[in-house]
Amino acid sequence: MSLPMTATHDRIVVLGAGPCGLACANALRQLEHRNWVVLEAGSSVGGLASSVVDEAGFTWDLGGHVVFSHFREFDRLLAELFGSDELLIHDRSSYVRFGNRWVPYPFQQHLGTLPPQDAVACLAGLASVRLRGSAGQVADDFGAWLHAAYGTPMVERFFGPYNTKVWSVPPREMSATWVAERVAPASLGGVLAAALRPRRPHSTWGPNATFGFPACGGTGEVWRRLAARLGNQVRTRARAVAIDVRERRVVLAGGEVVDYDHLVSTMPLDQLVACAASAPDQVRRAAARLRHNTVAMVGLGYRTPTTDPRSWLYFPQADVPFYRVTNFSKYAPANVHGGDISAYSSWMTETSFPADQSFDPQALTRSCDEALRRHGLVPEQAPLASAHVEVIPYAYPVPTLRRDQALAEITPWLEAHGIHSRGRFGTWRYEIGNMDHAVKMGIDVAHRLITGTAEELVPAQHAGAVVVGSRS
Ligand SMILES: Cc1cc2nc3c(=O)[nH]c(=O)nc-3n(C[C@H](O)[C@H](O)[C@H](O)COP(=O)(O)OP(=O)(O)OC[C@H]3O[C@@H](n4cnc5c(N)ncnc54)[C@H](O)[C@@H]3O)c2cc1C
Repeated sequence: MSLPMTATHDRIVVLGAGPCGLACANALRQLEHRNWVVLEAGSSVGGLASSVVDEAGFTWDLGGHVVFSHFREFDRLLAELFGSDELLIHDRSSYVRFGNRWVPYPFQQHLGTLPPQDAVACLAGLASVRLRGSAGQVADDFGAWLHAAYGTPMVERFFGPYNTKVWSVPPREMSATWVAERVAPASLGGVLAAALRPRRPHSTWGPNATFGFPACGGTGEVWRRLAARLGNQVRTRARAVAIDVRERRVVLAGGEVVDYDHLVSTMPLDQLVACAASAPDQVRRAAARLRHNTVAMVGLGYRTPTTDPRSWLYFPQADVPFYRVTNFSKYAPANVHGGDISAYSSWMTETSFPADQSFDPQALTRSCDEALRRHGLVPEQAPLASAHVEVIPYAYPVPTLRRDQALAEITPWLEAHGIHSRGRFGTWRYEIGNMDHAVKMGIDVAHRLITGTAEELVPAQHAGAVVVGSRS
């Protein structure tokens, strides 16, 4: 099928100034297409990857972000935006809290550091599933996949409680299709070899074994710098509240109407469908089946330095509210008050809740502080210099069992109406939910609209066949 390459002044409206929306606008600019606007609901740019400075002068991200890349487009963007000394490079140092021990991450590759009875149970469990064959490859749900991949003892000790805590959804209600690069593998030989030489804590597994972090301004600095290039075509405080799919119009809170020829949306997919009054019932029902969780980031600054060299730590246990804590002053001295890490330290905790469940931020702050002290990360008597809470209502798009079926109902309908839903919650695909993926999706959809080039991350059946290229 040939693509209609009408050289028009087609108006491209981008909803959301997070990584995906900004990368899309930047690509349109580089392609010399001038007729675009980014409409951002919030008062600043960056979306989930933004950063804030609290009243005590501590910088916080919306949960632990690190910069890493699978794509040369993202590498190139970072190189354009940051000088060599402006992006600090770290080797990951990550551990799991197990009783009163620290087990290096990935847990399954460091069983030799467990108490002997736990190590033996986990090894026997792994051997038993491996000798039965690799049932993991045929498991439908994530719970079954975990049992088949690692054996029940390891699931009971770590994977079950940890994953239930992160997702706020039991693994058996999740699909196993997303795990490829997100859950470290465990070959029996490799696990046995590591267990017999337990003194090598360093692991280079996974895409973030080495990561970058802006020297100043938190992760959000990446997106502030990108938005600064784009000028006033990025509009903040411009929330889309309704979309007239037939007339191709977006209505903003306050009543302003913005016409489009193509709409690139990075807002959560369920909210996008809710904005489109003419969406058919089956599309609405499918959108209602999508599930997400909410995360509360409690950032705690202390008037004490830290000598802890580690990057982030996982907490599967039920008596600690957070599933992960980041040693944030280690990422960049500028994250603490006055950049003075000889006097201050900061820890960023993440606690997950089922979507929209209410909680008491003060009680959560107290229990996070107490847990950091109880587990020896912060000295008992260290004075608190700052406590800051950010609630992230849409934090993790949950890969539920029926997610792909729901997406197959929703996205072709949107595409057929010139609406391209991209990004972490635009595609609702956690497996392509990081910043580098978001940037790649934003760049690719811009190229597709202007030149007709196929997108790499979005399945063709979701992207639809009708593409109108335009170059102004
Ligand atoms: C706890 C946590 C930890 C993470 N850690 C990492 C990490 O270590 N590394 C990594 O690469 N990624 C990480 N991520 C993922 C990263 O935040 C996302 O990949 C990235 O922000 C997605 O960009 P996006 O543009 O797709 O969406 P978003 O960042 O969600 O941006 C969407 C934008 O749309 C706006 N919007 C919503 N509704 C409307 C509306 N109605 N009208 C107009 N605008 C609207 C929002 O305000 C927002 O600015 C993490 C995410 C979370 C939640």
